[in-house]
Amino acid sequence: KLQVPDNPVIPFIEGDGIGRDITGPSQKVVDAAVVKAYGKSRKITWKEVLAGDKAFRKTGNYLPDETINAFKEYLVGIKGPLQTPVGEGIRSLNVALRQSLDLFVCLRPVRWFKGVPSPIRYPSLVDMHIFRENTEDIYAGIEYMAGELDAQKLCDFLVKEMGVDKIRFPESSSFGIKPVSKEGSERLIRAAIKYAIQRGLPSVTLVHKGNIMKFTEGAFKNWGYDLAESDFAEKTFTWRQFEKIKTEKGRLDAESALENAQKEGKVIIKDVITDAFLQESLLKPYDHSVIATMNLNGDYISDQLAAMVGGIGISPGANINFMNGYAIFEATHGTAPDIAGSGKANPSSLILSAVMMLEYMGWYEAAEHVYDAMEHVFAKRKVTSDLYAQMEGARLLTTSAFADEIIKNIH
Ligand code: ATP
Ligand code: MG
Repeated sequence: KLQVPDNPVIPFIEGDGIGRDITGPSQKVVDAAVVKAYGKSRKITWKEVLAGDKAFRKTGNYLPDETINAFKEYLVGIKGPLQTPVGEGIRSLNVALRQSLDLFVCLRPVRWFKGVPSPIRYPSLVDMHIFRENTEDIYAGIEYMAGELDAQKLCDFLVKEMGVDKIRFPESSSFGIKPVSKEGSERLIRAAIKYAIQRGLPSVTLVHKGNIMKFTEGAFKNWGYDLAESDFAEKTFTWRQFEKIKTEKGRLDAESALENAQKEGKVIIKDVITDAFLQESLLKPYDHSVIATMNLNGDYISDQLAAMVGGIGISPGANINFMNGYAIFEATHGTAPDIAGSGKANPSSLILSAVMMLEYMGWYEAAEHVYDAMEHVFAKRKVTSDLYAQMEGARLLTTSAFADEIIKNIH
């Protein structure tokens, strides 16, 4: 359980591009909700820490140590989007920050607000929580370019030492390595199962392509089932157990075991192949609750599910190390240079990330105030330009007017 003082210091990175437009208004909303919920007894002190363009201009460094240290010292922080400097030998500042704090879970809740345009028929039934593994998989950045020495060496090694058929590696082969560890998979899946148990959610779906990639994605699934059955035996029931009962005793027994588990409030642990999941989540989103998946799958899934509930302008996220508590809450979109400074940016993504932060701190009353106020504003069809064009009879507000409207609706 997280220990949060009544007057916490929260470090924040303003961010590049629309970060400058959405950060201030988001903080105003949070402050108003905290006052409403707790009067003068609690208050956040926002402490700006530097990263990105602004950091480079002031310190000559895109990601100063002081910034990383502040997030460590205060445990919980928030950030706007950062642009990755071109040609500085940095893959991504966002990734660098996640790595330096070992924030192994990318958590993205997916919920719909009444009135927000959605391409699916029953968006009100959507309540999903994505746990995306943040440190491993093909995204680890271990790649070798065709024609270069390392790629050739790897090719020779695979052919000579591993006995892989040479015909499969023409001269022009590039390679990417996909590391997936038991520890890495377990800590992600453990966090997802605990989250489902704590919130009384019905299921955890392990999403994978283990039918094709047996020893990486398939192992992820198997480690997940092993973990549930060993460490959470009393609180979960797995599809693997279902299958076992079915083989040994028949379908009826298996079905009644599943029903009993559901009645007892156990979390059902199941698995679905990624491509099937992408279909199912559109056609029957109510079949899925918590989703635990690996890095690349999680990337695709996050954007698809975000589109179901209004797009990246209103999709929140957080990067969390559930073992030591470090957490950085952030909007899931980029810096959107095309609309920066124009008043068109939707601050909802960052405001909802701040709501997640308040919940993480245990400040549920304040979180609810923001959430309820946003529901009112969307129901009145007052929106920023990203949603305006798709909504009949909507009223267009600028970034800061939209935030002010939320504050007005905090009752
Ligand atoms: P980056 O290089 O930092 O990822 P990008 O150019 O890829 O930036 P994104 O931020 O990923 O831009 O956004 C993609 C599209 O979505 C852009 O057209 C942008 O204007 C729009 N967009 C992103 N965030 C928001 C937001 N909060 N409100 C409104 N529109 C947004
Ligand atoms: Mg982008």
